[in-house]
Amino acid sequence: AKKHGKDRFEVFEPAMQEAFQEHIALEADLRRAVVRHEFELRYQPIVHLHTGEITGVEALIRWMHPDKGIVPPMDFIPLAEETGMIVPIGEWVLREATARVAQWNARREGPPLTVSVNISAVQLEQAALVHVVDSALKSAGLAPDRLVLELTESLLVDHRAATLERLGALKALGLRLAIDDFGTGYSSLAYLRRFPVDIIKIDKSFVDDVVDEPTAAALTHGIIQLGRALELSTIAEGIEHAGQLTSLAGGNCELGQGYYFAEPLTGAAISDLLFP
Ligand code: C2E
Ligand code: CA
Ligand code: CA
Ligand code: CA
Repeated sequence: AKKHGKDRFEVFEPAMQEAFQEHIALEADLRRAVVRHEFELRYQPIVHLHTGEITGVEALIRWMHPDKGIVPPMDFIPLAEETGMIVPIGEWVLREATARVAQWNARREGPPLTVSVNISAVQLEQAALVHVVDSALKSAGLAPDRLVLELTESLLVDHRAATLERLGALKALGLRLAIDDFGTGYSSLAYLRRFPVDIIKIDKSFVDDVVDEPTAAALTHGIIQLGRALELSTIAEGIEHAGQLTSLAGGNCELGQGYYFAEPLTGAAISDLLFP
């Protein structure tokens, strides 16, 4: 801040003021987006690493902004969390994703797909979340064991009894819980004891270096073995090259996703893939 005279400071530098105004404008934009339903889901296939079969999809939100085009989640999810707008947005994601996958499963022969939905800490703070999930499953007609809720470690840092209770209530619906970005948080191992987790998603940062860095490879294979020992399923994120697939499949990682197999695709593109 610039000093003015003896003891006055000008708080807003022009750059800060601009950023502040942009923030306000984006917030107004986002409120409009919620009312006008400017969101779409993309679905990234999750693949069995040994057979290559699609076992499920992860739903990933996009904001179809009328002027800016496609806004990625990293550019608006934090604001949506700050303002509480993530609650209605997250409910829409749950309803849309479960309905779409139930439709695919109804047409599909072979094992029904799972759908993974990212849940933010703010959503988990809502007592209504359990009812919302239950209602989404029922209106979609999706079997609860086809739904996976992905939680980040930052969310699990919250030690409140209410969080644990809510996770228990969610699991009682028959769905499964995954720890997202596993290995990047403070005490990943502690969460495995404390929370009723079913799936570990190995963070992309490990997968990135699994071929070239012995340390990353050792950690990745260690996480996979840990998963086996605890009877958890492991999903490797961000697989981009055949070499990474070889290393992960060789280490007995069960599932994976990444651009090597498919980017997040529109619902129509997934339909084409499933029903050629
Ligand atoms: P995430 O849950 O860790 O999702 C994985 C991200 O990695 C996605 O980015 C995906 O498009 C990207 N990705 C997948 N495979 C590859 C790859 O091979 N290489 C590279 N470089 N990237 C890959 P996206 O879709 O931009 O989502 C970013 C984050 O936004 C997600 O990270 C998740 O934390 C959050 N997010 C997305 N959708 C939702 C949602 O509906 N609700 C909430 N609360 N958060 C969401
Ligand atoms: Ca995720
Ligand atoms: Ca992740
Ligand atoms: Ca992430």
